[in-house]
Amino acid sequence: MHNLSTKYIFVTGGVTSSLGKGIVSASLGLLLKSRGYNVTIQKLDPYINIDPGTLNPYEHGECYVTEDGAETDLDLGHYERFLNSQTSRDNNVTTGRIYQTVIEKERRGDFLGKTVQVIPHITNEIKRRIKILGEKDYDIIITEIGGTVGDIESLPYIEAVRQLKWELGDRDSVVIHLTLLPFLSSSGELKTKPSQHSVRFLMESGIMADVLVCRAEHEIETGIRKKLAQFCNVDLKNVIECMDMDTIYEVPLALKKQGFDDVVLDTLGLSKEKTANLENWMDFLKKYKNPTKKVRIALVGKYVGLQDSYKSISEAFIHAGAWLETEVQISWIYSGDIKEDNVSDIFGEVEGLLIAPGFGDRGIEGKVTAIQYARENKIPVLGICLGMQMMAVEFARNVLSLEGANSVEFDSETPYPVISLMEEQKEVVKRGGTMRLGAWDCVLEKGSVLEKIYGKENISERHRHRYEFNSQFTDSFKMYGMVPSGKNPNTGLIETIELKGHPFYVGVQYHPEYKSTVASPHPLFISFIRAVSEK
Ligand code: GLN
Repeated sequence: MHNLSTKYIFVTGGVTSSLGKGIVSASLGLLLKSRGYNVTIQKLDPYINIDPGTLNPYEHGECYVTEDGAETDLDLGHYERFLNSQTSRDNNVTTGRIYQTVIEKERRGDFLGKTVQVIPHITNEIKRRIKILGEKDYDIIITEIGGTVGDIESLPYIEAVRQLKWELGDRDSVVIHLTLLPFLSSSGELKTKPSQHSVRFLMESGIMADVLVCRAEHEIETGIRKKLAQFCNVDLKNVIECMDMDTIYEVPLALKKQGFDDVVLDTLGLSKEKTANLENWMDFLKKYKNPTKKVRIALVGKYVGLQDSYKSISEAFIHAGAWLETEVQISWIYSGDIKEDNVSDIFGEVEGLLIAPGFGDRGIEGKVTAIQYARENKIPVLGICLGMQMMAVEFARNVLSLEGANSVEFDSETPYPVISLMEEQKEVVKRGGTMRLGAWDCVLEKGSVLEKIYGKENISERHRHRYEFNSQFTDSFKMYGMVPSGKNPNTGLIETIELKGHPFYVGVQYHPEYKSTVASPHPLFISFIRAVSEK
């Protein structure tokens, strides 16, 4: 639309981690998109894993999966949910991947005769990864640098940003630095010194921050803003406050009020002609904050100690809940605690159960007990991935009386492997990036519950699993009312199951939560919440 060169925005963080760079980046992306720019957001992660696929969710929260099957940082989920546009494997790069590429090139002989070094080889590869997105059709690339300035592992990234800023020039790039203003309750003051230090550290690395976004628990008064501007070398209007909000979805509006998007567009020399249209966003917020109903749903999983482990699921509940003007109250239930003698106490107050995805056998039997309780007491239940697999196990054991039925993930000797490994998975030895990943087509049976929910027969959803429903059991499942209603058209793999004669009993092998956004809440979550509130 603008016929200009691609503009680059770098978001760095100072003072502490967990300040919400992902949310600030996603908010800025939304504001710029709403003004007509084609924007994408990228995350650079300074750890050595090739991707977060092999990490326990307790390390970094949920592993988010893109359409093209990349296992990525959970911030990519925020980018998609805010912007309502898809990311890809190019949107998340780790130090591991950077080094892997450089070392592969070295083995190939690409650098013959040369010493391979952090500067220029690693920094060149970082710059290449940033600019790859610029080759696509974007006006603006926002690159979030993981970690905090000053971290040893962030240094090559900071150097790459310095070089890129120099190469691109001031009009084509902007550096936004996110910092924290701690509040000292004894003196009743917000303190600026840590921010001054982190900006100074950036300067020592050759980077001048153009915009400061300051996280604070209290409003930042003009005096403090002036001080920050003066000591951090930025314009007064480029000091942006980012207070704690009731919900992350208010952040874009709070930033907009202070002209955050104007400041960025001015710095990049981009037109401010088109004003932002955030009507739908505000409508969503209004509904989210003024629900007319409430439902209580239990999320049954084993990583409930860190709710970030199920980020996309809890956000999908927010999107669908707002759509229905319904508050979704989630109780986080550790599946390892659920036993036959306490199951009715645990779920006595809840109106619906979500059986979460997961790996490994801890807490598995608790999930089976919870599923049996929901099936027999006709409580709406939605099982996702491992959740769906355990629904199949429970049904085999308790309805088909197949004693010892299990997934071969947990019992390789089970007499009834209702969940098993496909032939091609049996040969897989490497753990990283080898599951069934990314978008797969699925055809829904005409007249099935799921076909009604989606309103169409042909769908595509994202996957992340190694094990599959064993089609040998299809007929006996069907005979007892459990319908395998969704199939992959190419492989025949069973992607969904649903139980007849139950108010809502649906298991899906895929992860619907990855595709729920503010602008487009997922129909499966909407229908589930609706079923719960009707019950
Ligand atoms: N552990 C199961 C599998 O690999 C389920 C994975 C998941 O829930 N994402 O098939």
